[in-house]
This record gives sequence, structure tokens and C-alpha cells, in this order.
Amino acid sequence: MSEADEGTHVTNDGYHETAPQRLKRVRDEIVSAANAVKRSPADVELIAVSKTFDGEAIKPVLAAGQRVFGENRVQEAERKWPALKAEFPDVELHLIGPLQSNKAKEAVTLFDVIHTIDREKIARAIADEIAKQQRTLKLFVQVNTGEEPQKAGIMPREAKAFVALCRTELKLPIIGLMCIPPVDEEPAVHFAFLAKLARETDLHCLSMGMSSDFDAAIAFGATHVRVGSAIFGTR
Ligand SMILES: *Cc1c(COP(=O)(O)O)cnc(C)c1O
Repeated sequence: MSEADEGTHVTNDGYHETAPQRLKRVRDEIVSAANAVKRSPADVELIAVSKTFDGEAIKPVLAAGQRVFGENRVQEAERKWPALKAEFPDVELHLIGPLQSNKAKEAVTLFDVIHTIDREKIARAIADEIAKQQRTLKLFVQVNTGEEPQKAGIMPREAKAFVALCRTELKLPIIGLMCIPPVDEEPAVHFAFLAKLARETDLHCLSMGMSSDFDAAIAFGATHVRVGSAIFGTR
């Protein structure tokens, strides 16, 4: 079994650190980042992003008390999470990756929160499934703040009309906005932009910040940070 499989890795000074130890460090950093801007740490939800890691790697993090997890593929989550959810029924599962409408049924069955509502077709498919399955979900609209052609997310100029469509016509439970800043740009600019857009659309949740920048995201008002490698190790 490799070190990654055991959820340990070697730090700069040569010590093995386990996923639960890294989880604790991330939790401490969230508290510091919130305190630094006089926000309550309780207003920042840590989503542990477990994509590419199997059940054996996830279990120690569950055992350490983490209950909120993120996955970016519906099929991968379907393979891993039903068994883990049977053991830990209070898990809250977040879909943070792009969604195809032919996976809407499975997504609504398995996930509690979807962060990637970004076009009318997917919004309608999710609305239909929520009605059919009578499930209570929470949803975020993903905004392509960097206007990157290859990236998912509604374009900023269309965001307000799209949020209105989701809420008013489709009656979707939209709670906030989500973004993934371009890798080569200062993320703070994107966090500030998303926060402004949320104020203008009267949305209270902001899903932004990953392993490398969750402290900055918290400074700009993130209510949900999506942290993978800082907890589980490199993928
Ligand atoms: C993988 C992923 C993350 C976590 O990234 P890390 O850099 O490993 O923390 C966050 N958000 C999304 C959408 C992802 O796909």
C-alpha cells in the first residue's frame, strides 16, 4: 500500500502527517482566517473534497468527525458514498463538479447540495427531479467569473437573469453563488466580484476558496470553502 493510500504523506521536515492531522490544521486555519476579519468561524462550512480518494482514505476523516464532503463526479460518488452513508448517516454530500442533465436523477438522489447549476437546461432538469423525488436540496449557481471558454458556469453578464429564472420561475432553492477563479489570476479579485454579485442578487452563501486560497476567500465572505489536497494529500 502506498503512503497516499494510507492517507499519510511526508512533510517538508520529514514527518508523516495523517489526513486527520491535516484536517485539524485546516480547521485551525479557518478559525484564524475568520477571526482575522472579525467573522464567526461557525459561519464558514468546510467541505472536505474527497474526489479520487477511496472509502478507505475517507474513513479516517469521517472518524475524526468531518461530516461535510464534496465530490466532482456523480458516478464516482455513486460508487463510494452509499456504503459510507450507511455507516455515517449524518453525512452531507456536496456536488462541486459539472453536471450533465442525463445525470440529474442520480445527482438529486445522492447529493444534499449542488454547487454547479449554470444553465437553463440543467436548472430545469434539477427542478423536475426535485419535484419527482420530493427531496430537499440546497443549490448554488456557478458563475464563470474569469469568462473562461473551457470552464463551466454562467457568464457574469447573464448571472442575474439566470438567478431570477431559477428562483422565480423554477422555484429552485438557490442559496448562493460559486466560483472557481482562473489558475493564473489573483483569486481575490474573483472572490470580491462574486461577493458583490451575491449582494446584488440577495443571496447569502458564497462557495469559494480551495486548498491554496481558502483564507483569502474567507476574508471576502466565503461561507463554504472546498478543500481537497490540504486534507487528503496530493492527488
Ligand atoms: C478539486 C476541487 C476542489 C478542491 O481543490 P484542492 O486544491 O485540492 O483543495 C475545490 N473545488 C472544486 C470545484 C474542485 O473540483
